[in-house]
Order: sequence, then structure tokens, then C-alpha cells
Amino acid sequence: MAKPLSILFVASEIYPIAKTGGVADVAYGLPLALRDLEHDVRVMLPKYGAISERKNKIHEINRLKDIPIDIGDVREFATVKSSSIVNTRTKVQAYMTTNKPYFDSKWGLYNDPETGEEYADNDERFIFFARSVIQTCTLLGWIPQVVHVNDWHTALVAAYMRTIYAQQFKNTKIVFTIHNVSNQGVFSLKDTFHKTGLPESALENLKHKNKLNFLKAGIMYADHITTVSKTYGEQLLNDPKLTDGLNAILKARKDVFTPIINGIDTTLWTPEKDKLITKRYTLDTLDKKEDNKEALVKKFDLDYKPETPVIAMISRLVEQKGFGLLKQAADKLFKENIQIVILGEGDKDIEEWLQATAKKYPEKMGVKIGFDENLSHLMEAGSDMYLMPSLFEPCGLNQMYSFAYGSVPIVRATGGLQDTVHEFDMATKKGNGFVFEEYKSADMLDAVERALAVYKDKATWRKLVKNGMGEDHSWNNSSKKYEDVYRKILQTQANGK
Ligand code: ADP
Repeated sequence: MAKPLSILFVASEIYPIAKTGGVADVAYGLPLALRDLEHDVRVMLPKYGAISERKNKIHEINRLKDIPIDIGDVREFATVKSSSIVNTRTKVQAYMTTNKPYFDSKWGLYNDPETGEEYADNDERFIFFARSVIQTCTLLGWIPQVVHVNDWHTALVAAYMRTIYAQQFKNTKIVFTIHNVSNQGVFSLKDTFHKTGLPESALENLKHKNKLNFLKAGIMYADHITTVSKTYGEQLLNDPKLTDGLNAILKARKDVFTPIINGIDTTLWTPEKDKLITKRYTLDTLDKKEDNKEALVKKFDLDYKPETPVIAMISRLVEQKGFGLLKQAADKLFKENIQIVILGEGDKDIEEWLQATAKKYPEKMGVKIGFDENLSHLMEAGSDMYLMPSLFEPCGLNQMYSFAYGSVPIVRATGGLQDTVHEFDMATKKGNGFVFEEYKSADMLDAVERALAVYKDKATWRKLVKNGMGEDHSWNNSSKKYEDVYRKILQTQANGK
């Protein structure tokens, strides 16, 4: 067997310690899956104010206290603490950077929960975090073979490793994963560059459209770049609008660019073992799913009607997720015999529209504003259909959770949704969901209507549900693809290329 690798996985959010979206699930499931493959994998994230030390069993580490870190002309101190992430099989060490002004005193991850606005010092916060990652490796005397960074928040780690700390990390390979290109960490060129403390020679690698762009640093300095689905990978290379022009820069590195579809952690997301749902079930005991449906609609103050399909959405409330389409389609949609339950938080205008619409259709729509991990599991278990009309979707996890729970996804063909959801064919009985191409409310309505038509035919619906439930979306395949990438780039080094 090939020798295990040492891997540091760095992310701005990791389930269950901190989560706003899919990155957190990936930063949990992938490291645990790599640990299952015997690698020495550890993870690192900032310790935001909302993270409880007690709940996450966070401890001090003697060697990692009061580490001086310069942000421009200001000296701050990082104390790195220890925690872990676990599933039913495995455990992975987690390092967490604490610092009062940047993290402990701020409740939100990126935005102030009071105002919804991004924190004004987000550049400093993530410069500080990146430098704390470097210091942690140095002070622990643990220089991993692979450092895997994710999205703009952690991309600067790559810049530091290839400039100021080049000598120290000369044997370390860097992988950078783009989970969402629409957030690039864009700041004032001069001010923020000064704060990074990077040498002048690095400026070109961070400069984009006369601004400082953290994401670009990841693209320029990584040994290998990945993204989270094949279709999104093509969009990243070819769509200047989606990438704000970074596609040209990525294209120049396309030889070291690999799309790898995300997996789901099947120890957490499986209706057979899920402790967060009302009644557990499998492919063979699908009738028990009904108890979850009853519990779910009641949670949303709707009447339980066995014959009425329940459509769920769990989402950050942002334009990307297709709420514009929902708004246009709402009045026609609610003419159908359906119930819709939505859980989410985000843009205030979307929150307000959802609440107003739930008031207008009190028997058909239930809305909960907030973040509720427990409820999200019941929503997958209790719903018949799951709607993702996204404008764009790098990978999307909920359609895969939906397969596992027998909730049939209705999605727009974009990014990872296009790669994982295939239109059900009445003739062949193949397919696992319903797909529409154009970002148009009429097309979305049409897809919903196709789903409703099949739903009326119980036997065929059951077949469709089983098609999805029978698929394997676990990390088993994709974690091996990451392992291949790691080994390949380490091999390049060994060959002296
Ligand atoms: P994105 O990363 O763009 O938000 P993904 O589909 O990749 O989208 O992942 C979203 C993850 O966040 C899923 O696990 C989803 O269930 C979860 N999620 C999103 N909003 C909420 C919420 N309000 N409450 C609970 N879980 C949520």
C-alpha cells in the first residue's frame, strides 16, 4: 500500500463547528474520508465568536499561545487551540485560530448578524488567519506534504508559502479548491496589500482589475486547482461574467485544473441512521417516510395531507439560489395541489417576500427564517420533492441529500445540479429527478408540473424515488480522486519536474 500522506485542510467554515453553507460540509466530510484512507489529515479554521468552547471541547495547546502576527504596521496575537471533528468511524484533529478583535468578539463568520453587512476588516481577518496557519505548522514542527486551501478566505496561505516562507515549505504541495467564484475577497489594492506584508514581487499575482483579489492568489500560487463539479469547471474556464474575468487567468493554468464532484457524509446524511428525523427508514421501509412528512408539515403549521406533495427548500437566501424565479412563479405555483416548506436566512428582501407569501398562502406555504441544522434533516426526510432553481450552483449538496432521503430533486441544469440530476423518463423509468434548462419561471413551473404528474402515479413515483436512493454519492469515490491529485503533484516534485 502507498504511504499515507500528511495533509492540512484549511477552510473558513467546518461542520459542525461553524457552518453557513456547503463548504462546511465538504471541509468535514472530505478530511474524514481522507482519514479513512489512512492519511494524517488535520483541519484548521478560525474560532468565531459564536463557537462555543465547551460544546466543541476546545483546549489550549502550550506551544501555540500568543503568537505575534503583523498586519501592516499593527501587531496582533494569535492563540491557536485544539478541537476535533468526528463521525461514527473516524476523528480528525482541528486547529482553531483565536484572536479577540478579529474573531472572538465577532459573532458572524463574514457578516455582522445585526446589520447583515460584511465586516469592514475582513481583509485583516483572513490575512491574520492565513498567517496563523503558517505559524501553526512552524511552531508544531509539522510541515505537511499537502496543504489544501479553499475559496478566497484561505487562498493567501498559498501566497505566503511560496514567498516569505518558500524555503520552509519547499517540499509542501498546495491544492486550492474553488467552491464559489462569486466571492473573491476583493479589497483596496494599496491598503490591503500593505497589510499582507507580502513582497512587492507578489503584487501581480494578487492584482485583478486594479483591486487586490485574494482568490487570484490561490489560482496563481497553488500547484493544483480543483473545483466541485465538471460543469462548473467549464463555466470557470469560459464564463467571464461569472468569474469577473478570472476565467482567463484560470485558463492559463488549465493543465493543473481538475473538477471533482463533492460527496456527502453518509454517516450523517442517511435516513437509516439519522437521529434528527422522526422515523428512520430505508429503501425497503419507505412507508415510514410518511411519519416524517406529517411531523414536518406540522412543524411549519400546515395541515397534514397525505396526498399532497410537499416541496422543500433549505438555502442561503441569495439571488444565486433562484428566489427570483420562485417569486415570478408563485401565484401560478400555488394553484397546484402542493405544500412548500422553506428554511433559510440571508437577504432581507428575500426573507420579507417569503414571509409575506407564506401569509398570503397560509395553507400552502411554511417559512422559517434562520439556520437550523436539525430541521434541515427532517426537511429532507419529510419532503416528497426538493426544489433548487439555482441561477448557478457550483456543486450543490441538497440534491444529493435529497437522493439519499428519497426526496425527488427539481433543479435547473447548471453546475453540479446538471451533473447529478437526470430527467426521469416515463418510458424507460430511468432518471432521478426533474430538470429545466433556461432560467425562466415558466420552465421551472413546467418541471414542477412534470413532477406532480408522476407523483399521482404511486408505483412510478416509488420507482423514481428508489432510483435516487440507490445511487452512491458518498465521499468514497471523490476522496480517492483528491488522493490521486495529491499523489500526482507530489510525484512531480519527486521527479524534480
Ligand atoms: P451553498 O454552499 O451555496 O450554500 P450547498 O447546496 O453546497 O449550497 O450547501 C448548503 C448546505 O447548507 C447544505 O448542507 C444545506 O442543508 C445547508 N443550509 C443552508 N441554509 C441552511 C439553513 N438555513 N439551515 C440549515 N442548513 C442550511
